[in-house]
Amino acid sequence: MSGAGEGRGGDKGAGTRVVGAGRRPEWTQRIVNPPVWRASTILYDTVEELRATAGRDTHHKLFYGRRGTPTQWSLADALTQLEPGAEATLLYPSGVAAISTALLAVLSPGDELLLVDSAYDPTRHLADGLLKRFGITTRYYDPMVGAGIAELIGPTTRAIFMESPGSLTFEVQDVPAIVAAAKARGVTTLLDNTWATPLLFPAIELGVDYTIMACTKYVVGHSDAMLGSVTAAPGKFAALRHASYQLGQHVSPDDAYLGSRGLRTMAVRLDRHGESALAIARWLGAQPGVARVLHPALPGTPGHDIFARDFRGSSGLFSFVLDGGDEAARAALIDGLELFAIGYSWGGFESLAVPIDPERYRSATPWQAEGPMVRLQIGLEDVDDLIADLDAGLARFRAARG
Ligand SMILES: *Cc1c(COP(=O)(O)O)cnc(C)c1O
Repeated sequence: MSGAGEGRGGDKGAGTRVVGAGRRPEWTQRIVNPPVWRASTILYDTVEELRATAGRDTHHKLFYGRRGTPTQWSLADALTQLEPGAEATLLYPSGVAAISTALLAVLSPGDELLLVDSAYDPTRHLADGLLKRFGITTRYYDPMVGAGIAELIGPTTRAIFMESPGSLTFEVQDVPAIVAAAKARGVTTLLDNTWATPLLFPAIELGVDYTIMACTKYVVGHSDAMLGSVTAAPGKFAALRHASYQLGQHVSPDDAYLGSRGLRTMAVRLDRHGESALAIARWLGAQPGVARVLHPALPGTPGHDIFARDFRGSSGLFSFVLDGGDEAARAALIDGLELFAIGYSWGGFESLAVPIDPERYRSATPWQAEGPMVRLQIGLEDVDDLIADLDAGLARFRAARG
């Protein structure tokens, strides 16, 4: 399930790279996209051959189904190739499994984790639950801390977990400054890069040790499979692999295939998601009833200057704050939408709207806003149709707010 990162096409544009990545001839034979190889048992001709295989490094060798087949290896290898400078990638059955395994790979009892206060809430639950039970303490930090992280690094700090931008409140972190402070103290860095993907934010090149994606979102891209990935910087892969093997992490070849299939169109989809989301965010910012729009590409969103410096573009997820109103007024907006469905997750071809309440998931930096919030995932529908839908929604909101 891992890739060796040959860097094929590493100097080419994003569209070219996602089309070619991971399609090694020995895995695809003459088939365009790597086919589904299902396996648990692998057969050997002799006892000697069985013993020789078991005693070797089984990376990219058929050994036992849990170690994967060319279907999983190809997707992992593709994700490695998209991260210039990376060592290798492993796949996980979900984004949360990728996050938990990466953290268990680097942390031990007695260690301290610095976790960004804007992190995805299941990441917080892991820190406050299992990690705490195993004697690992967590300190939450302000997403805008930047180089100031140096003052938070203590004698037991082992790892810093970042998410940029946050997936509810969209603060952009100064990843290079945090990485520099961490490297100076020998602290491991991890980044949840689901929003940007390596196409918009090449995390390994920028010095991050482990970059994580919920591939469920943009890699799969069609809201029909769960998948996660962790890509490691040079020298960092062995620890991840040991933890993953011990935890029995495995992805079905069918799901890996869906990831591989989705990946081929990820660059064009991201372009469209990004363009439409930005147009809608700008439009929303000028509407009565909207207090604020939180989108990294808009000035005024915390970390916008860092975004402009470090990112190659934006994707399709952002949120906005309503100007006053209550739960019922927010529901009047969302419930009547025709093109935006109500549901969690994002990164698929269809638009989604959800109510969000970030104040429930903050401890280091209290969250305050002018009214209730809504998060939008902008899909691949026509932008004028989406705006008309939201326009009617805001009229319902204003009527309900009074
Ligand atoms: C969805 C999400 C995850 C978790 O991914 P799953 O595949 O749903 O487990 C992790 N991080 C972020 C930012 C997400 O949005």
